[in-house]
Amino acid sequence: MNILIIGNGGREHAFAWKIKQSQQCDHLFVAPGNAGTAQIAENVAIAVDDFEKLGQCCLDKKIDLVLVGPEVPLVKGIRDYFESKKELQHILLVGPGKNGAQLEGSKDFSKQFMLRHGVPTAKARTFTASALQEALNYIDQCNTPIVLKADGLAAGKGVVIAENLKEAKAEITEMLQSQKFGAASNKVLIEEFLTGIELSVFVLTDGTDYVILPEAKDYKRIGDNDTGLNTGGMGAVSPVVFATPEFLKKVEEQVVKPTIKGLQAENIPYQGFVFIGLMNVKGEPYVIEYNARMGDPETQSVMSRIDSDFVDLLVACAKKELKGKELSISKNYALTIVMASGGYPGEFQKGFPISGLNEQHEANVFHAGTKLKENSIVNDGGRVLGITATGATLAEAREKAYKSALNIGWEGVTFRNDIGQDLMKLSG
Ligand code: AMP
Repeated sequence: MNILIIGNGGREHAFAWKIKQSQQCDHLFVAPGNAGTAQIAENVAIAVDDFEKLGQCCLDKKIDLVLVGPEVPLVKGIRDYFESKKELQHILLVGPGKNGAQLEGSKDFSKQFMLRHGVPTAKARTFTASALQEALNYIDQCNTPIVLKADGLAAGKGVVIAENLKEAKAEITEMLQSQKFGAASNKVLIEEFLTGIELSVFVLTDGTDYVILPEAKDYKRIGDNDTGLNTGGMGAVSPVVFATPEFLKKVEEQVVKPTIKGLQAENIPYQGFVFIGLMNVKGEPYVIEYNARMGDPETQSVMSRIDSDFVDLLVACAKKELKGKELSISKNYALTIVMASGGYPGEFQKGFPISGLNEQHEANVFHAGTKLKENSIVNDGGRVLGITATGATLAEAREKAYKSALNIGWEGVTFRNDIGQDLMKLSG
């Protein structure tokens, strides 16, 4: 098969790495890709939301299967576009249509969806700018901290946790009245704060049947011990020690099944990934968010633990043939350390040559914000590399990943030193 992956992050490099292992993959393309995907696939310089050019590329390269990595093309309707063009209808595509992607594209939609289908989640109310005064009055009745969520896509930045009523009121005014997150904050959810430990569960569904992929924990803050600003994710670990079989059974029964039944009941076809952000509150799962795609960097750890032929799964998903598919998951631990540009998630400089990439590593070095410039690979984004290692124990995976991270560098490089440490403590 000829396969096209859409995206340019560590997630897409990890997908490419896994897909290349399949006998079923003849030619692999990534649009637009990065310097890492260029080493194992052919990059095509097309933006992730340029549907016309992506469609034409599929015809030119005789693509059989498209895997959509990021949320933007999904929410903008890439599947709907491919389905609307006669010449593209034969192409298999993994990723939901525009209405399914609403699970991620609108936090109000996903909250109402969860409530309609009995999926456990935090209590919330949604307000628009015209109801600002009502929102301020409502805040007066809330316990603190208070969670405020912009309804639309805000590049992972649309959630604010206000410690007190004053801060919550100032924030919601900025979001609704001053459009802090642009159109994404035309509506804002005021949500109850849940106390617990977070993890992510990933499901690949064809709309009827599903397989549950390995769960993962990510590390959102820039600094060690979860300090500093939120980022796109600074690391990941899989499996997660507190995700016991009993807990994961609850997730399947109380979250995964009602979610897929809910999609069916609402006539929303869904062939793709559902990323379920969960809070474990005293052993009970609560959904914090849905995403309509895999997470980054979690995908890097998750792909490292899937032993099954990944192309086989993607094809089964796209053809609605997931029934009876079993996933083979490695018992190994996987750990990902994200290496970022100095200053990230604020301003940072690009274009510094990265050293150490050509040395022998016991870890996979997945690229995210990298590009080739005059024969050297340079940093070209906030999150630059994801160093992913596996081991029979978490300690072994961690040691290998850090050993590689310490041998790679560029001016200003930064990464967390504590990825996986909390889970090591929990497992004793
Ligand atoms: P989201 O973009 O929805 O994943 O939210 C970003 C982060 O905010 C999550 O990873 C959580 O750490 C936190 N968060 C979101 N909703 C809640 C909630 N209801 N209670 C506590 N923390 C939350």
